[in-house]
Amino acid sequence: DVRVRFCPSPTGTPHVGLIRTALFNWAYARHTGGTFIFRIEDTDPARDTEESFVQLLDALRWLHLDWDEGVEVGGPHGPYRQSERYDIYRDVIEQLKASGHIYESFATGEEIEVRNVALGRDPKAGYDNFERDLTEEKKAAFRAEGRSPALRLKVPDTDISFDDLVRGEITFPAGSFSDFVVVRPNGHPLYPFVNPVDDAMMGVTHVLRGEDLLSSTPRQIALYHALIDIGLATFVPRFGHMPYVMGEGNKKLSKRDPESNLFHHRARGFVPEGLVNYLSLLGWSLSSDRDVFTIDEMIAAFDVVDVLPNPARFDLKKAESLNGDHIRLLEPADFAARVIPYLVAAGDVSEPLSEVQQAILEAAAPLVQERIALLGEAPGMLGFLFIGGDSLVYQPDALASLPKNMREILAASTAALLDIPEAEWTHDRVHTTLTETLIDGLALKPRVAFGPLRVAVSGRRISPPLFESMEILGKAESVLRLARLAA
Ligand code: GLU
Repeated sequence: DVRVRFCPSPTGTPHVGLIRTALFNWAYARHTGGTFIFRIEDTDPARDTEESFVQLLDALRWLHLDWDEGVEVGGPHGPYRQSERYDIYRDVIEQLKASGHIYESFATGEEIEVRNVALGRDPKAGYDNFERDLTEEKKAAFRAEGRSPALRLKVPDTDISFDDLVRGEITFPAGSFSDFVVVRPNGHPLYPFVNPVDDAMMGVTHVLRGEDLLSSTPRQIALYHALIDIGLATFVPRFGHMPYVMGEGNKKLSKRDPESNLFHHRARGFVPEGLVNYLSLLGWSLSSDRDVFTIDEMIAAFDVVDVLPNPARFDLKKAESLNGDHIRLLEPADFAARVIPYLVAAGDVSEPLSEVQQAILEAAAPLVQERIALLGEAPGMLGFLFIGGDSLVYQPDALASLPKNMREILAASTAALLDIPEAEWTHDRVHTTLTETLIDGLALKPRVAFGPLRVAVSGRRISPPLFESMEILGKAESVLRLARLAA
């Protein structure tokens, strides 16, 4: 059975590349009927924060990437936060020490450099495994000096190869790296140790993660062999390294770039369906002629071997356009409900909405659903419907667009509109009346004729359809707004 995991370190805000990796793991688990594990790698107190942990939970939940085992839901291999697993690590360390797979290393970084110079090597050439066979006397002497040892894994003297699910066969020749530190002198176990130990104990079958971790894979395989040797693992998992996500100028999308932050996109009004669809295209595709699809279609089709190794570009324009497509796929009532938090954030309404506000929203939402790519665009297009005309603010560009004869247009329109009986106030009737008055009567072009009305009603040059908006506002309010701009 497939067992995959998402195991971020809780440092900083969720990066879109990281969440793409979570998505691919999740989709692979769902496609295969396997298990998706969510583990937190919080072994670096200097960098890990509780805030970041909460954000990771929020990110996965927002995107509906549910996990079968892990933090908050539990499971047979818990705890799922590494900060709560130190007893387990201590035990594994003892076993690896007793079996001779890891050994004590007393040399400081400085001493290693000095030794390299003495051997005629580059000072930065790294550690040459010279403490593998320190005598007990020597160790005791170091201890007597007050030194504590780090622990290093004895790396086998052979090539290490693996068949990467995305990149194919990769070989690290013998000697590519030296015996590496798994436990610091202060007893703190490090990522290259705790990560494979947990993967082994949790029965992970496929390690799907970012390309940036490719270089740690041979080290982890070496550790896996040691774990197999002492009976703590039974197999080495398959590995697949997902491509980098590039931003502007073909550079890796950096943490400092606001576009790298998942929540930046949520705040602007991505719907989870749209963002998940777009993230799935960062290294994968459903078919060459279809970009818009649902999560269920992705699950049905997703296989990690179809992920492409070449860097994926984060294209915000394309992401937004996909999001617009997903917005249009929503049920109108669902769309209206999702707009509310953005209206609240913009100060147009506060929750709970009054009955009148709810009715306005339901009537107007379908008009903007067709026109926006981001939910965050909705307040600008709807806000004018929720306020009294006397507090309407005219956008400067809207005022600048007004023609010289705008008072004539407003006066003629007002007179004609006043003749419409209250009960017949529909967008069709408003449309016909204004067309007869302005286009037929005054021989104006529609753009000239309706521009001032749009500004009067919404304060903007671009609003949802004018006549529908006037229907929603009602006769009295519409006429009042025309008079206000004319004054
Ligand atoms: N904690 C590691 C990270 O966030 C996990 C890497 C892995 O998937 O193995 O980069």
